[in-house]
Amino acid sequence: MIKETIKRLKSELPATVKLVAVSKFHPFESIEEAYSAGQRIFAESRPQELLAKVRTLEARRIELGDPDYMADIQWHFIGHLQTNKLKMVLPYVSLVQSVDSLRLLEAIDSWGRLNGKVIKVLLEPHVAAEDTKQGFDPEEILEILAGSGKYANIRFKGIMGMATFTEDEAVIESDFKAISSLHEKVLGLYPSLRQEFTELSIGMSDDYPIAIGYGSTMVRIGSMIFGARY
Ligand SMILES: *Cc1c(COP(=O)(O)O)cnc(C)c1O
Repeated sequence: MIKETIKRLKSELPATVKLVAVSKFHPFESIEEAYSAGQRIFAESRPQELLAKVRTLEARRIELGDPDYMADIQWHFIGHLQTNKLKMVLPYVSLVQSVDSLRLLEAIDSWGRLNGKVIKVLLEPHVAAEDTKQGFDPEEILEILAGSGKYANIRFKGIMGMATFTEDEAVIESDFKAISSLHEKVLGLYPSLRQEFTELSIGMSDDYPIAIGYGSTMVRIGSMIFGARY
């Protein structure tokens, strides 16, 4: 099932849209299965679980006597990240999609400076109606990017967003439209970011076709590939 779904999604998605397989709550074996179907980008939302999977992969390489086993796998982080957990996440991921506060952004920049790394990030605006959702006000994102040069160890790659949790497609459309317009606005205001700030990560299992209509470059799909999470 995992393999078939990966293959189907890959053939169905436009060439401009990357597939991010959200493997949270699912075992390492499921990741191996998706990888064997050609999937390379995986996303986790909890530091502990990401680290456990990274360690499992290291153990697999030793067990197989193959240091290059799944060598080109890429991990993205998509959950709320506390500043005291950066060291569990930043050494292993190629992209932090869920930067949702100035405090976190500054902590990532400092970590990068101390560790000699440049970290790629997406900024997460607060758009969905739920009050529990973390994220920046759109104006805050514009302010941060106006001074993006002062974050020497951050590379701003784009925006990640989530629509309101609802069946109402009109609401989902208007949320994606707002996130997409914010992305466009950034590119209009700050031409120097145009080369880098290219990603619009919108769309999950239930709403990715709508997100593609609003210019998604990256869909984050979990349950459709791996099944329900318990
Ligand atoms: C869990 C999660 C997803 C995947 O959701 P599905 O509905 O299972 O596809 C995508 N994005 C984020 C931020 C998530 O936490």
